[in-house]
Amino acid sequence: MKDIRNFINGEYLTNVSGKTFEKRTPIDNSLVGLVHEAGRTEVDAAVAAARAALHGPWGSMSVNARVQLLDAVADEINRRFKDFLDAEVADTGKPHHLASHVDIPRGAANFKIFADTIKNASTESFRMATPDGATALSYAVRVPRGVIAVVCPWNLPLLLMTWKVGPALACGNTVVVKPSEETPSTATLLGEVMNTVGMPKGVYNVVHGFGPDSAGAFLTGHPGINGITFTGETRTGTAIMKAGAEGIRPVSLELGGKNAAVVFADCDFDVAVNTVTRSVFENCGQVCLGTERVYVERPIFEKFVNALKAKAEGMRPGRPDDPDTKIGPLVSKEHLAKVLSYFQKAKDEGANIVTGGGVPAMPDDLKDGCWVQPTIWTGLPETASVVREEIFGPCCHIQPFDTEEEAVRMANDTIYGLATSIYTSDLARANRLAVQIEVGLCWINSWFLRDLRTAFGGAKQSGIGREGGVHSLEFYTELRNVMIKY
Ligand code: NAD
Repeated sequence: MKDIRNFINGEYLTNVSGKTFEKRTPIDNSLVGLVHEAGRTEVDAAVAAARAALHGPWGSMSVNARVQLLDAVADEINRRFKDFLDAEVADTGKPHHLASHVDIPRGAANFKIFADTIKNASTESFRMATPDGATALSYAVRVPRGVIAVVCPWNLPLLLMTWKVGPALACGNTVVVKPSEETPSTATLLGEVMNTVGMPKGVYNVVHGFGPDSAGAFLTGHPGINGITFTGETRTGTAIMKAGAEGIRPVSLELGGKNAAVVFADCDFDVAVNTVTRSVFENCGQVCLGTERVYVERPIFEKFVNALKAKAEGMRPGRPDDPDTKIGPLVSKEHLAKVLSYFQKAKDEGANIVTGGGVPAMPDDLKDGCWVQPTIWTGLPETASVVREEIFGPCCHIQPFDTEEEAVRMANDTIYGLATSIYTSDLARANRLAVQIEVGLCWINSWFLRDLRTAFGGAKQSGIGREGGVHSLEFYTELRNVMIKY
């Protein structure tokens, strides 16, 4: 059993209150470890360490030296690949093939990509004539914001955390990370990596705990924080934005979604079915970019529903290290209860349950895990709860449509605006829809295909700001203008 401590100023510390909470694996509910819950004392210490580090060797380090350290962090994560994989899989239950292809390599790559970005980032400069006939030159420098609070969700723990820590450090900030209470392990392990590569103490800190009245709220409300970057639910984002308002701290918010896939009859059918299968069921539906609403042009509606049903029924649940496992569990009992409550609502609201809708039969050793059946509904009105609200499970509602305008209207009829995917062989139509559907990310005949240099973020209530490539610099640095008269 692991002892999961807060990582403050380069050291793993026990907390003064002695308060711990259990982390159980969703695979079979066995105990992964005891997590030390940070109180105000630990959060104060972490913020103070991060503040002090800004004025130590880190603050005066050249960009090249910083970049070398970040490259070393990525290399060390890759060298300890198995440790990270085991930690992530124990916390989340996700299949090895997924964590070893997505979570851990992308977690490492996030340090490299932002090291490259900062090396090549330029700023503007202008020369002008002054009213008295002299000349002046102005130029901009990017300066770090300071201490950044990084508050993370549980669905892609290392990947989404380093997506923020990578650029924050590349830009010269220091961080205090609050991982999700459900997934404390990889953020903690990253502390060892930081020490191994010689990261100055206090640059990277981790505090564990929950949201309200716990580490999350203590950190985001802390006056020593200069910015808050958050990924999680839209409701939590509202609380975080309020916390940021006190002291006028900027926030970067990557929030929830209720993403639509739009499938036209002229699509490559196999590409559409295979890709929608991934976008609905990958990571047991716990992907912010995942699809929970599918709109299919009427001529291929029945055929598509049957094909997706066959795919869903082929998704075998099982242990993460079993190569035949196609789908893992949900992250926790609490989340399982939430998803099952939506399965019940769908039934109550009169859905046609195409497949799933409950808990799969599991062998005795896995019975106490958080397993749920891949689920497809049809026949509901667009006003039904499971069509409107984010469920974050392996499920979707499929609705037929007759015209392009109708598809766009239904896709846009949501408070969210994170992502969409469009399946058609008519590129003119795809480009038309890409402009009309109100989202931050639009995929055409694909899904989750990412170039890390491009902007990532949500429209409407799916977020504020864009991260990725140079766009991350907007949040993690401030532009200072220097004007010289000569
Ligand atoms: P969550 O909002 O419940 O929790 C996220 C983090 O916030 C956790 O670390 C939690 O402890 C902390 N927290 C909760 N309340 C807080 C408060 N009042 N003050 C400070 N911190 C608080 O989200 P989750 O359940 O962990 O993650 C799932 C959600 O995240 C889904 O809505 C999903 O769509 C969203 N998500 C969005 C993106 C994106 O890029 N847009 C990516 C992944 C997940």
